[in-house]
Amino acid sequence: MTVFTGLIAGEWLGSGDRSPDENPSDLDVPVGETAASTLAEVADAVAAARAAFPAWSRRSPMDRADILDRAANLVFERREALGHLLSSEEGKTLAEGIGEVARASQVLRFFAGEALRLTGEAQASTRPGVDVQVTREPIGVVGLITPWNFPIAIPAWKLAPALAFGNCAVLKPAELVPGTAAALVGILVEAGLPAGVLGLVLGRGAVLGDALVDAVDAVSFTGSVATGRAIAARCAAAGRPVQCEMGGKNPLVVVDDADLDKAVVAALNGAFFSTGQRCTASSRLIVTGGIHDRFVAALSKAMTALRVGPALDPTTEIGPVVDGRQLAKDIEYLDRAAREGGRVIGGERIEAATRGHFLSPALVVDTTPAMTINREEVFGPVASVVRVSDYDEALAVANDTEFGLSAGICTTSLATARHFVRNAEAGMVMVNLPTAGVDPHVPFGGRKGSSFGPREQGAYARHFYTVVKTAYIG
Ligand code: ADP
Repeated sequence: MTVFTGLIAGEWLGSGDRSPDENPSDLDVPVGETAASTLAEVADAVAAARAAFPAWSRRSPMDRADILDRAANLVFERREALGHLLSSEEGKTLAEGIGEVARASQVLRFFAGEALRLTGEAQASTRPGVDVQVTREPIGVVGLITPWNFPIAIPAWKLAPALAFGNCAVLKPAELVPGTAAALVGILVEAGLPAGVLGLVLGRGAVLGDALVDAVDAVSFTGSVATGRAIAARCAAAGRPVQCEMGGKNPLVVVDDADLDKAVVAALNGAFFSTGQRCTASSRLIVTGGIHDRFVAALSKAMTALRVGPALDPTTEIGPVVDGRQLAKDIEYLDRAAREGGRVIGGERIEAATRGHFLSPALVVDTTPAMTINREEVFGPVASVVRVSDYDEALAVANDTEFGLSAGICTTSLATARHFVRNAEAGMVMVNLPTAGVDPHVPFGGRKGSSFGPREQGAYARHFYTVVKTAYIG
């Protein structure tokens, strides 16, 4: 059986507890085994990164660009095998898994270019004979803590800017997806990354998290609100820069003048693809009265036709839920929605040829904004529908949430679209598109409870992964 280990000071090792790396499509055949890192190994990985920092941060940006570019090529060339591993561990369909791997390659390539585009400013001082230069420098050793739902794309979009700008990093991926993280780190090593520049530690966040957070110079985290807030507080207490991407409860508004077919496609994709396990999922469908019944009828028909099954089966459109804990959570939210007065369509356990966490997509109709299903993030193939009377009420309901990651609207009115773009309280706004599905070269992030700190991705990533220096030269 394959054993996934951490990478500490250039050595693959994990001396801690062993645990199976489960395949949610087939619980009888694990993907491999994880050899967890110990607390001492976390310290060693950070120490090795510190030792590597002076040379790495002074390397030519062309060298750093070349390594990231080579890694981008290797990831792309191996997208089928990496997608297979990713989908086996996480459960998204093979097409989604390969697509995510291709995205990771694009991210690496984008940041290979960014390594060469770290511009500064030159200004005249108010004092004669003095020049002012504003430059950006790497921070040092960055701790990267990532979730299970995008096992290669999220590590890539944290690692790539960290390394491009001359930082060293230690990655702690989610415990459910160690293999994909190890494969990505292995490719970066193969592409020429010097020993120590990038460390990998595997294991439970509750065990390793504090040790990592306390040892590094900055932390970038993606995951749940509770964990993100705790990490942000810990970093703030130590005066350490932190960036957190957390949950979403993203509204997709459908108004009477929407193109019905487009709205159904956007909702179907946004709510259920990737098994609904996306922080940008369209989990609240807010629909005006004139189109509500037609929309619900068309969406539930399309949703019921989706084929749920093992991730690697080419006919599968919706893969399994990631693990038993998440499955129980999804079912509990559906039961609670029914108890609070919603009507649940779908959401049934599905039998397949293999033993896995299969759940059919669920639409909860006849809900009100106050119900739990419209307040808390489920993170499963579950969406709720709120009927509203008009666009103004739709906008108010859309913004009535503690989250603010993504918001979408389906409309054929330019005036309505413009108003929504301006007034939606979200970091990302989509018109006639699902709330999920973003580009790699532009900023990603949210408002309110969804995000904390500077944006990720695109040219904006430098705001987190570098620190500004203002030099006066007389
Ligand atoms: P989820 O509930 O979806 O697993 P988490 O926020 O718990 O979301 O997990 C996201 C990432 O944070 C994972 O890599 C996890 O191991 C890590 N993590 C969990 N608890 C902590 C913690 N106390 N400190 C640091 N990292 C943690």
